[in-house]
Amino acid sequence: MRAAVGAGVKVEATHKHHTQLPGFTGRHLWTVMGVWQVADPARVRHELDLENLLTLEGPRCLHCEQPWRATIGAHCPGPLSTEATP
Ligand SMILES: [Zn+2]
Repeated sequence: MRAAVGAGVKVEATHKHHTQLPGFTGRHLWTVMGVWQVADPARVRHELDLENLLTLEGPRCLHCEQPWRATIGAHCPGPLSTEATP
């Protein structure tokens, strides 16, 4: 569960997210990822706010992992394959 308060600065989150990620559409899916320090990892819910925010990274495409830049365009090549080609 996630809940944004005010301007979206304060967030409560559980260990597992239940968000359904949108499917790949051929366009970049821009994201910003954050790292928060948690006081008690055994807790089911954590309070994520500016006081324990360690770093933000991005924007970066969730599919192809390229960082955003003004000239990148809308087309996304999609996830990089980790399988070896024969
Ligand atoms: Zn992309």
